[in-house]
Amino acid sequence: MCGIISYLGNRKNAGKLIVDGLKKLEYRGYDSFGFVEAVPSTSSGQRNGKFKLTKKVGKISEFPSSTFHFPLSNLALGHTRWATHGKVNRANAHPHLSADRKVAVIHNGIVENHAALRKELQKKGVQFASDTDTEVIPNLIAEFLKRGNLREAVRKTAKKLKGRFAFVAMVEGEKKLIAARNGSPLIVGIEKFFPKSDDRLISKIDGSAFFIASDVPAFLNFTRDVVYLDDGEMVEIEPSPKKDHFHAHFFEIENGDEIKKRVISIDWKAEKAEKGDFAHFMLKEIFEQKETIERALNQDERQIEKVAGLIRKSFGTFFIGCGTAGKVCATAEYLFAKIARRHVNVIFGSEFDTQEPFLTERTLLIAVSQSGETADVLEAYKIAKKRGVQTVGVVNTEGSSVARHSDVVLPVNAGMEKAVASTKATTAQLAILTLLAYAVAGKLDEGRQMLAEAASQINDLLNPRYSEHLEKIARKIKNVESLYIIGKAADYPMALEAAIKLQEVSYIHAEGFAAGELKHGPLALISRGTPLIAFVPTGEYRADVLSNVAEVQARGGRIIGVSAENDDLFDEWIRVPNVGNAQPIVNIIPIQLLAYHLAVLRKNNPDLPRNLAKSVTVK
Ligand code: GLU
Repeated sequence: MCGIISYLGNRKNAGKLIVDGLKKLEYRGYDSFGFVEAVPSTSSGQRNGKFKLTKKVGKISEFPSSTFHFPLSNLALGHTRWATHGKVNRANAHPHLSADRKVAVIHNGIVENHAALRKELQKKGVQFASDTDTEVIPNLIAEFLKRGNLREAVRKTAKKLKGRFAFVAMVEGEKKLIAARNGSPLIVGIEKFFPKSDDRLISKIDGSAFFIASDVPAFLNFTRDVVYLDDGEMVEIEPSPKKDHFHAHFFEIENGDEIKKRVISIDWKAEKAEKGDFAHFMLKEIFEQKETIERALNQDERQIEKVAGLIRKSFGTFFIGCGTAGKVCATAEYLFAKIARRHVNVIFGSEFDTQEPFLTERTLLIAVSQSGETADVLEAYKIAKKRGVQTVGVVNTEGSSVARHSDVVLPVNAGMEKAVASTKATTAQLAILTLLAYAVAGKLDEGRQMLAEAASQINDLLNPRYSEHLEKIARKIKNVESLYIIGKAADYPMALEAAIKLQEVSYIHAEGFAAGELKHGPLALISRGTPLIAFVPTGEYRADVLSNVAEVQARGGRIIGVSAENDDLFDEWIRVPNVGNAQPIVNIIPIQLLAYHLAVLRKNNPDLPRNLAKSVTVK
């Protein structure tokens, strides 16, 4: 999940560009960071001399640029880490160097066979300086370099690695960047490039500067022209014969054959990563839901109808997602049953492989992913493709791997989500799945109207007074050890999502249950003052859920009712509008606010919760 960025071009402040880029990628990991600058050994800058290595433990955003002294350099690479192998410490921070200190590597992913490779290298006398899986990569490259050129050394290294990865390497003394991808995202950004052919499918691209990064925001201030590397591909960037220019060359990892790639001009608004008047991105994004839900409804009608047709025709529709998106998917089971009278399957991305025996060309896979780079979802896509399954991606990130590999894409349109805990993307995804259920029922217009009405009610709800009310409740429960959330029907997955939100940012133990399940076990956890958040509907199921609430109250639980109507059983009432089938969308919003306030009161950073990263690109 780490963030990777590298630069080779004619600017002379490569180190600064890397640090600025890493700050944009911090959502991908923030355990430690580091970068290597190639410092020219001659004043003309024609040759690259020594590597200058900087590594720090902690969040890069907490280090102003003035912390660093950047030498003149036009070649550098950097990394912000989300540790998978090896503790969070300086030695394990990337970049990693080969034992001879000639090769520097940044890596995103997991080298699954690192132990065996490490042993092989140790037998050859290589000494390791870290506990990471990554360190085998620069050392393998260094070994292969003894008998070949850099491109071949990197290609052979990539072939030896098992698992999902993306890495970028550079060698001391060579003005080159070289990168390989198999599973984790890697995007080449190009400034002032040519040739600009009509279809733009080219094998060698010339430009004044190149970036290779895990995500577009890392270089969005410089260019919108990008090439997405696909799995099994490599790119090499080196000086071009044209003065002050460089070129990128693309190859297959498998056999080294040259490949042609397309330059895509992406249409991302350089959304200002500013918090404005808000204290945190999480709060800003919660408040943006007034507009983002409306934007999510603004779908191309033909695409929605097309997906509805695919669902109707399919023999087995699977909704898959991970984390919050997985909980969004779980609402589909209830929404499709109720609105479209249709059974759909829901499974976490990481579990989808267990369903392989049932997959045929008549199966449909609908993947929900904010980043579009979730490794578990991409693994599911591999199985789906193998079985001829059609795929639909509900994604928030244009150009992401899920978007590029889906047969149909329904864009979430929530705009860039910076806080690690998802809020506005969640409700936008929920709106799209609800709309889809209406489309399958042949009632798209009715669905659109119902959701538009819900969006306008959210507009009324989200005001500073509402937020203050939730802060008051947060103050009362901020020191509890555990809290529980219940809901029935589509509110049950929302109870699970509420638990994730509370866990992620408040670090309080929180668990969600189907309301009727409490009495089958979890009720034993309730003691005097244990908070229970209950999503209590107004119509069907109200009596059932209130009975479950009463059972908790009878055992001393403190009841926080989320409902359009108050009830004597509630110790606290969180009012939400009554919005019919859009109820899961509005119910989760106050819990997002509650989680936010709990985080702040407990002195946690809600934007960068401990141990997490936003885009989960490892299995
Ligand atoms: N496995 C590498 C490490 O632990 C990279 C981790 C990642 O990509 O998240 O440093």
